[in-house]
Amino acid sequence: MREFRGLWNQGEKLADQTWMDKAACIGMSHLFLGNGNEAGKETTKREKAALLICQSCPVRKECYEYGLLYPYGVWGGKTEKERQTIRNRQVRTKNVDD
Ligand code: SF4
Repeated sequence: MREFRGLWNQGEKLADQTWMDKAACIGMSHLFLGNGNEAGKETTKREKAALLICQSCPVRKECYEYGLLYPYGVWGGKTEKERQTIRNRQVRTKNVDD
């Protein structure tokens, strides 16, 4: 997702975006973000293709952490819905801990 480098800064922890230069998806953002008009089947097909690329990406861990802060697209081998589920779980866990 190097195309999105510098798009937003989520604080010092994630300010280093140099890992994006090693991304396996460079030049393939059309697979990782929908165009807003695709039907459900098209989304599933696009996401499957993106997730295949993520499987062999050398910066998947960094991308996963970064992508948890962003609601759209495939990041770190997770779809939008998967990351939303993870975020919801994190919020529930935090609320239990407080
Ligand atoms: S993990 Fe996937 S979305 Fe993230 S940089 Fe690698 S290929 Fe791109």
